[in-house]
Amino acid sequence: FTADNYPNVQRDPKFSKLTREDVDHFKSILSSQSSIIDAQDDASGLDGFNTDWVRKYRGQSQLVLKPKSAEEVSQILKYCNDRNLAVVPQGGNTGLVGGSVPVFDEIVISLSAMNSIRSFDEVSGVLVCDAGVILESADSYLRERNHIFPLDLGAKGSCHVGGNVATNAGGLRLLRYGSLHGTVLGVEAVLPDGTILHDLQTLRKNNTGFDLKQIFIGSEGTVGIITGISILCPRRSNAVNTAYFGLNSFDHVKRAFTKAKTDLGEILSAFELMDGLTQDLFHKTTGKPYPLSDRYPFHVLIETSGSNGEHDSAKLEAFLEEVMGEEIVADGTVAQDETQAQTLWRWREGLPEACAHWGGTYKYDVSIPLNDFYTLIEDCRKLFDEAGLVGGTEDDSKPVIGVVGWGHMGDSNLHLNVPVRWYDKKVENLLEPWVYEWIEKRKGSISAEHGLGFAKRDFVQYSRDATALEIMRRVKNTFDPKGIMNPYKYIPAN
Ligand code: FAD
Repeated sequence: FTADNYPNVQRDPKFSKLTREDVDHFKSILSSQSSIIDAQDDASGLDGFNTDWVRKYRGQSQLVLKPKSAEEVSQILKYCNDRNLAVVPQGGNTGLVGGSVPVFDEIVISLSAMNSIRSFDEVSGVLVCDAGVILESADSYLRERNHIFPLDLGAKGSCHVGGNVATNAGGLRLLRYGSLHGTVLGVEAVLPDGTILHDLQTLRKNNTGFDLKQIFIGSEGTVGIITGISILCPRRSNAVNTAYFGLNSFDHVKRAFTKAKTDLGEILSAFELMDGLTQDLFHKTTGKPYPLSDRYPFHVLIETSGSNGEHDSAKLEAFLEEVMGEEIVADGTVAQDETQAQTLWRWREGLPEACAHWGGTYKYDVSIPLNDFYTLIEDCRKLFDEAGLVGGTEDDSKPVIGVVGWGHMGDSNLHLNVPVRWYDKKVENLLEPWVYEWIEKRKGSISAEHGLGFAKRDFVQYSRDATALEIMRRVKNTFDPKGIMNPYKYIPAN
């Protein structure tokens, strides 16, 4: 992939090209030589920063900077702004919409060297930390102190908490703990002109003017760089149960979801849907035995988290008796310990890797009202069957492995995935704008939790009207009048 891959987007000539003087200047700002990866010294060292997780988007940045403090970020951005050098903030580079890698030669500013926990208050549960702390490290730190991070997702071993806030990531715990718009209490962020916003509030209630942190939550690196966050973390539950079910139809899944909300109520912390084909792909790529003796058209993973083990077990048993007795669920298993729970979770969390196994994946992360939830996958399968592009896992003359779906059903969030052997315009043209038109007709959202990035920049109008888009442009221009922050992404300038 090269810039020729983006025929509809031209490099904006208003941005300067990087010079040796620029590189020397950055060397003088940064406290350590290891904070710079320069194409002249180490061209291959840039590859991982130029390529996204699904290997679909690739930029040609010549420079990666890894500042160690908000002050260093400030000096870098001020210089870039004065010189009209475009930049891309990068966290763990696990984003799935091509937002975290350059499109052309933008400078990558990686937050990976800002990775310290600043403070934690065990009474209030408020954590203050650098943006570059890896999500799993933050969660482990909190677990040792009987708390958890209010967000969990399959990329936790690599993604940064700052990246999570920048994308407003949803993940596996949203059903229980809500969105980052509620749990994040404050941010420290650097604006393109070098101004540092010190707004690491630790209070839940604070009605003193505009809630500035909300601008940064979900802004995908387009208004400034988040360098620190404060976040409210729940206490770790004493009792966590995980169950995995097989179901014969989507109608059965909907009935199971209604029952789970009724019978498990406040202890329900995840309700994840995986269709049968996803489980086949995971089985094929890992060789692991299926969790149940049969493989069903639909599988559901339920988690409960509560404070009283006996109460929770009694509730779960009553729920299981009902769903099995009424034949809503065809078969199921409940994890007996933490290791078994983690094994079951792999059948859900390992799906992005399983889909990427053959070469790449066309990914659509959407919100759909539950009545129409799975119809998108069925309609998409028909589309591909008619086009004759599906070869399954055996026929390698055709690009498409299959059309599969999974998602955070508890949040009406579906992930439509089309795993492919190679990225192919025929496949892309079949999917776009078809998927977006389908979503618009059902009043869904074209991006539930992954954001817009580069992938969805030309399709926002399917979910937001012209007035909303114009107001967003005004916000962007207020924070970043020269447009140096993550250009060509998110909401296009016009
Ligand atoms: P990056 O990918 O590096 O960046 C993402 C965007 O944020 C880019 O636009 C970047 O410019 C910007 N950015 C990053 N850091 C900063 C910063 N400090 N300041 C300003 N802007 C910044 N997402 C979900 O929502 N839910 C899921 O369940 C989920 N599961 C996933 C599972 C797998 C296996 C993978 C690979 C991805 C998954 N994702 C999921 C997507 C991804 O992990 C999230 O979007 C995550 O929040 C990105 O964090 P990151 O640190 O990797 O950010």
